[in-house]
Amino acid sequence: MDNIKELQRLLQMPKDIVLTSHRNPDGDAIGSSLALYHFLKRQGHSVTMIVPSDFPENLSWMVGIQEMLVYDDDPEEVKDLFEKKDMVFCLDFNAIDRIDKLGQLFIEKDDIVKVMIDHHLFPESFPDFILSDTTASSTCELVFRFIDMLGQRGQIDEIIGECLMTGILTDTGSFKFSTSPTLFKIVAHLLEVGVDDYKLQDLIFNSMKEKHLRLLGHCLNKRMEILEEYHTGIIVLTKSDYKQFEIKRGDTEGIVNFLLKIKNVKVAAFIMEQPTIVKISLRSKGDFSVQEIAQKHFRGGGHKNASGGASFIGLRPTVRKFKEILPEYKEKLEKA
Ligand code: 5GP
Ligand code: MN
Repeated sequence: MDNIKELQRLLQMPKDIVLTSHRNPDGDAIGSSLALYHFLKRQGHSVTMIVPSDFPENLSWMVGIQEMLVYDDDPEEVKDLFEKKDMVFCLDFNAIDRIDKLGQLFIEKDDIVKVMIDHHLFPESFPDFILSDTTASSTCELVFRFIDMLGQRGQIDEIIGECLMTGILTDTGSFKFSTSPTLFKIVAHLLEVGVDDYKLQDLIFNSMKEKHLRLLGHCLNKRMEILEEYHTGIIVLTKSDYKQFEIKRGDTEGIVNFLLKIKNVKVAAFIMEQPTIVKISLRSKGDFSVQEIAQKHFRGGGHKNASGGASFIGLRPTVRKFKEILPEYKEKLEKA
């Protein structure tokens, strides 16, 4: 962000600010929103947080999360949310369609300053201020760097630190990927201000219900297919699975990663039949990028090793389409 001084000047006067993040918010979306929420409020600003859809239950312990508005829950109530607002922060997303109808409420408003803090590939150019680093582990890492750039590192205490650590832990899979010397320095600082990483890991990752573990077992035992020729694993979940396991938003989080535990599997696809669309989660190892597949074939995007998208042609045709795409990437997959 080369115009940080200008943004710093704007933030010297109290502002009416909205923080928003992407549909199906994860630890990074919620963590970055809450960290900035606490920080900006302490600086004297009035701050409202909104996400398009509900957050996962394993984050319900986070300080301030009950203040977060959910568009899906009450679209009427938030219709006028952006009236008389000065500024909107777009956190952990790169394209306005990632926040559904919320985007239309402010994108055309010239009097609202738009700030994006994000680490996804190919950010759109609508914001007035962009802090985008696709090598960053998480938006939470970037929020730390943002607060630091404002000269306010001292404001990062245990409460803000816990929010930041949550996004870092979830987006790096507990420090398994996207790590860097910068990240570990930031994490060291978070521990110094009192963040208890062990407690957070327990709160975030050991909160499964019995049904979640049974669902994981079902996916691995009954719904997994390995295409050795293409170094690819696929898990397909049907509507009847959703019913049988009473699957709710967030319940399937992380299952896709298990496919990559198989030696020589370089691409993992998790294909879910949802009420109106088919949702696809893609993961990859090493140099092979799933971002291109998500963008080119499934109207999505994301990162090199973690992307997602959607399909509108039904479950079986979507699975077929995915399998038909693979030969195109055979050579790249061999080399990766
Ligand atoms: P997940 O598979 O966990 O839903 O998402 C993995 C990554 O892909 C996330 O970084 C997310 O932002 C991105 N992603 C997931 N679904 C979509 C989508 O429909 N469109 C775009 N542009 N990105 C997505
Ligand atoms: Mn993220």
